[in-house]
Amino acid sequence: MHRYDEDTDHLARAVFEYALQRVRMDPPDLDGPVPAAYLREVVGQTITPDGIGGHEALRLFVEHLAPACISVDHPRFLAFIPSAPTEASVLFDLVVAASSLYGGSWLESAGAVYAENQALAWLAGLAGLPETAGGCFVSGGTAGNLSALVAARFAAADRRERRPKRWSLLATGRSHSSIQAAADVMDVDVVLVEPDAHGRMTGSALGRRLDELDDEQREGLFAVVTTAGTTNLGVIDDLETIGFLAKTNDLWMHVDGAYGGAALAAPSKRHLFEGIEHADSIVLDPHKWLFAPFDCAALIYREPELARQAHTQHAGYLDPINERDEWNPSDYAHHLSRRARGLPFWYSLATYGTRAYRDAIEKTLDVANQAARLIDERPHVELLEEPTLSIVAFRRLGWSESDYQQWSERMLEAGIAFVLPSEFEGETILRLAIVNPTTTAHDIAEILDHLA
Ligand SMILES: *Cc1c(COP(=O)(O)O)cnc(C)c1O
Repeated sequence: MHRYDEDTDHLARAVFEYALQRVRMDPPDLDGPVPAAYLREVVGQTITPDGIGGHEALRLFVEHLAPACISVDHPRFLAFIPSAPTEASVLFDLVVAASSLYGGSWLESAGAVYAENQALAWLAGLAGLPETAGGCFVSGGTAGNLSALVAARFAAADRRERRPKRWSLLATGRSHSSIQAAADVMDVDVVLVEPDAHGRMTGSALGRRLDELDDEQREGLFAVVTTAGTTNLGVIDDLETIGFLAKTNDLWMHVDGAYGGAALAAPSKRHLFEGIEHADSIVLDPHKWLFAPFDCAALIYREPELARQAHTQHAGYLDPINERDEWNPSDYAHHLSRRARGLPFWYSLATYGTRAYRDAIEKTLDVANQAARLIDERPHVELLEEPTLSIVAFRRLGWSESDYQQWSERMLEAGIAFVLPSEFEGETILRLAIVNPTTTAHDIAEILDHLA
């Protein structure tokens, strides 16, 4: 350990060789889960007093552990929200690991923070935020939403003379589960706004909800949480009107664009985000639709100073950092130590340029559109509604929930596709989340034909 000798060199070559092989797979096998008992049998105990050696541990990973993990970058992985990291981003992730970067402070990682901030600035610019906007990369949308809402409540508390009995935020039931989770962690209430027939929060519904509240409830409100691309259907709230109402009602406007925010880079969809420039905070996951490896979420504030006051940790041993007037990513979220996890995304953006990103996102949108037409053409399936972004939701006519379930399991077991049922208004549906530019209309047609 801690010595680069000949054995280490052999191991390095084996590890790099495997990593290269994996990057080159086009496509990788879909793979899938196996029972723990099976892994106990074939892998056994790997942690021993003497160690089993790097070559043996690598063999076990390549032969048994890796195949027991679904390849999220497979073109027919269309469940949840997949990930499709570029070659450059994956390769640079290796560099980040090898560089022993501490990404929390400018003092320790000025170069990494500089590069990460350029990537954040590109995203902030797409949203039309002022140049003074900024933030940091966190592990995911869940972490980003929580940190943004903590900053929002801090800002509200800071402005007020007294605390309300209960703090609360406004959201719809279509917002991501992490919003309720954040509210639980913060012990704040969620005031639900009724979504429209498409699942969007509209300005008029928000206005009505605000009118219904009594003085005590209104006093506790500190934020309205909007979603720009819901996880289930990809719909976008009415950001323009909500932004106006947030301003006139002294509410922090948070935009959860963990999935959909990437479409800000797509000219064909940019108009759907009008009003996002009013946001006080935005979350956008490069590990979803911006082709970065896990884990990487961008958290951006209109006024970073408020977030800094909310999140900076104080201690004697941190004074050497806090006393310097520099950009410390650790100040902008609920974390201290952090991987410079924005770097693989930065490297990929720098490598290919923003036009390649625009084109790749447009390509997935185009395939989503074609998927909708392929569904229209087939009598056994029916589109739920036109896709707003790249999530295509539909029903298989005549099927029960267990039909969907069994079909989905068969498709994964056969290595054909990973498509999961979801639920919409009590009905079981299927959804295809298309964020991988290597997914083709042919892939979709094949999946639809398997449903016949
Ligand atoms: C995926 C998602 C999240 C959660 O993001 P993680 O990176 O999985 O933590 C939050 N909001 C929306 C809208 C999402 O699609």
